[in-house]
Amino acid sequence: TMEYGPAPEADGPAKEWLDRHERRFGHYIGGSWRAANEHFAADSPRKGEYFATNAPGRKNAKLADVAQGTDADVDAAVQAATKALPAWQKLGGHGRARYLYAIARHVQKHARLLSVLESLDNGKPIRESRDVDVPLVARHFYHHAGWAQLMETELPDSAPIGVVGQIIPWNFPLLMLAWKIAPALAMGNTLVLKPAEFTPLTALLFAEICHEVGLPPGVVNIVTGDGRTGAALTAHPGVAKIAFTGSTEVGRIIRKATAGTGKKLSMELGGKSPFVVFEDADLDSVVEGVVDAIWFNQGQVCCAGSRILAQESVAPELLAKLRARMETLRVGDPLDKAIDIGAIVAPVQLERIQELVKQGVDEGASLWQPSWSCPTDGVFYPPTVLSDVQPASTVAQVEIFGPVVVFMTFRTPEEAVSLANNTTYGLAASVWTESLNLALDVAPKIKAGTVWINCTNVFDAASGFGGYRESGYGREGGKEGLYEYVKPRWMAETKRAKKDAKSAAKLSP
Ligand code: NAD
Repeated sequence: TMEYGPAPEADGPAKEWLDRHERRFGHYIGGSWRAANEHFAADSPRKGEYFATNAPGRKNAKLADVAQGTDADVDAAVQAATKALPAWQKLGGHGRARYLYAIARHVQKHARLLSVLESLDNGKPIRESRDVDVPLVARHFYHHAGWAQLMETELPDSAPIGVVGQIIPWNFPLLMLAWKIAPALAMGNTLVLKPAEFTPLTALLFAEICHEVGLPPGVVNIVTGDGRTGAALTAHPGVAKIAFTGSTEVGRIIRKATAGTGKKLSMELGGKSPFVVFEDADLDSVVEGVVDAIWFNQGQVCCAGSRILAQESVAPELLAKLRARMETLRVGDPLDKAIDIGAIVAPVQLERIQELVKQGVDEGASLWQPSWSCPTDGVFYPPTVLSDVQPASTVAQVEIFGPVVVFMTFRTPEEAVSLANNTTYGLAASVWTESLNLALDVAPKIKAGTVWINCTNVFDAASGFGGYRESGYGREGGKEGLYEYVKPRWMAETKRAKKDAKSAAKLSP
């Protein structure tokens, strides 16, 4: 048997919460908890299939057991969401806004517990979950409460889609949940959300928050499990739309699985975002920008600035400054407020990072890591720069999804643009220069959903986020994001008219 993770002072509220649930979680369906495989007979060997969720920053110690969702669990959740739909729609935007405001407020109220739990389960630094993730989650619900109130006037020709299936990754468990749930609810949909198998805990705590604010049963359903559960949700005929965030690979599987079904889709996929540094840029700000671009959340960020493109004349100086700064970064216990870089989400991800770095070196890249070494009591990887990288090599093309940045050079702005666009992705980019003219000339030529100028990883609920090409399609946030959760009203009315005609036909002699 595995030992549960140690619980120093800092874990206090999370430990209490986990213990209160006896470290075993079922699904949240129709407003109540459903144990794993509840539908199997008591003596069935398949009764109670759970999986472990671990703390990667704590020797990967087990935190809790979580139910592996089956087809029957998914079906129960979709049925609960279907049942809840008419009343939720009838409530109108103003009625729904009250719940969204309450959720936002309660997220703030439980901010400490949410942050600690997120950092334990995911491995991200507590400073990030406390100062970035959780505040952005609250902001997302506040913002969409506003949109719920405005729906009737601002989107008068729109109707809710129906029951939505939502599948999210492990890198920002709670924030990705907010990006999915807030707009869906604001626009009058009900939903079934499947969190990632590495990080299900904050979604389960969120279910409790929904309960606490009195959200009607069935409006939000959380079913945990791995890819099989996601596949069951994708395939369910009662689901009108799938919203997916995750790898380009699984995105492709979902597109194939839904082809021809008429299900609406939105996809937020991978990236290999360029970080373009011109010779007139303020190099000290650039270095802090790199820290933020690639070492925020251990580089496990879809829009991470993972390719530094530096103008040749300043490249050596930038690299030297960057190395000096890397020496000062601290990797360690995610719950320690003084660390800069936490743990990689799971050993399997660590192996993937190690393999890709090895491949980069085999293909001729120069590896540079700080002189200190990482602690050994967690899943850690040091900040890493690969220079002398060829634009066509694996590490310049493939998303590493770890604290590894590749460093390449260019001579002219034209070359910078062509290198920036030289991947199959198109999620984000940043441009660093003191010349606004240059920035405004280059930015629109880069094929990316977001281009930051002299900053990076800046998000706001009011601005749409999403990609081009293999980074996916559809937007999350802002007014654009709402269109993913509505359909034209005439479609809803045609359907209703058909239904009325049918029942009228039944009634007539
Ligand atoms: P993943 O694709 O492995 O998993 C994502 C989710 O899909 C998980 O919940 C998983 O259980 C589920 N899943 C797996 N197989 C499935 C299947 N066959 N059918 C349905 N669902 C299935 O991705 P990940 O490793 O969790 O996350 C990392 C990836 O997510 C990276 O590529 C990253 O760039 C991307 N990402 C993108 C954005 C964005 O907004 N564009 C944001 C965050 C992460």
